[in-house]
Amino acid sequence: NPILEVRGVHKSFGNYAALRGIDLSVQKGEIISVLGPSGCGKSTLLQVIAGLTQPDAGEVQLRGAQVASPTRLVPPEKRNINMVFQDYALWPHMTVYENIAYGLQRKKAKADYIKAKIAELVSLLRLEGLEQRLPPQLSGGQQQRVAIARALATEPDLLLLDEPLSNLDMRLRIRMRTEMAYLFRRLGTTVFHVTHDPDEAFAMADRLVIMRAGAIDQMGAPQDCYEQP
Ligand code: ADP
Ligand code: ADP
Repeated sequence: NPILEVRGVHKSFGNYAALRGIDLSVQKGEIISVLGPSGCGKSTLLQVIAGLTQPDAGEVQLRGAQVASPTRLVPPEKRNINMVFQDYALWPHMTVYENIAYGLQRKKAKADYIKAKIAELVSLLRLEGLEQRLPPQLSGGQQQRVAIARALATEPDLLLLDEPLSNLDMRLRIRMRTEMAYLFRRLGTTVFHVTHDPDEAFAMADRLVIMRAGAIDQMGAPQDCYEQP
């Protein structure tokens, strides 16, 4: 059974059709990268999956339950998903530790569990010694690793990544895309990743979705897809 199923999704803004019939499904533990030029509808698709935008037609299912249709919209916080954006969006007045702990505390996880989970994530994301820092005291790469740790802490069914590395310099991007893909595979995290960067998509994806003008142009294993001009 797929974790995510998108069926016949359409979305227009005024008379502009941003999504023109999207069908795809994502299996547990799979990393899907959606690639395409600016304006092709990637962010709109991610927002429909997240529950931030309602489709005009079609439906979205998570773990077999319908979460979006033209007449139904389950809000993001009730979807057991987490998101990481390019601008990190950490809480600047909270320490690294508190940022990562926040979701678990809201879910009333036990203190021992929270402590152990954070120790694991701090180690996996190489954040040792930074637990008491505030986000403005961290580099961009460190902030993005905290954002990923925070998103993984509650073990979401699905992790959504929207241009996660776009604010980092080239050397860091190259390093982090490999590290992230390795980490997600090791943890078995199901990932829906959106980027305009072909190198990032080809480096991370188990399966690639190439979009063009609101529709899926190609979908398959990276080695079977050609790079879009
Ligand atoms: P991408 O993420 O691939 O760059 P988007 O999904 O952001 O593409 O946008 C797809 C198209 O829909 C673009 O032409 C964009 O201008 C338009 N669009 C996106 N969001 C809105 C909105 N809230 N209102 C009007 N037009 C929008
Ligand atoms: P308390 O122990 O006051 O009930 P918590 O549930 O927040 O509060 O803490 C559980 C454990 O997690 C603490 O014993 C502490 O070791 C660790 N911890 C909590 N907050 C932090 C923090 N900001 N930095 C480092 N460790 C923390």
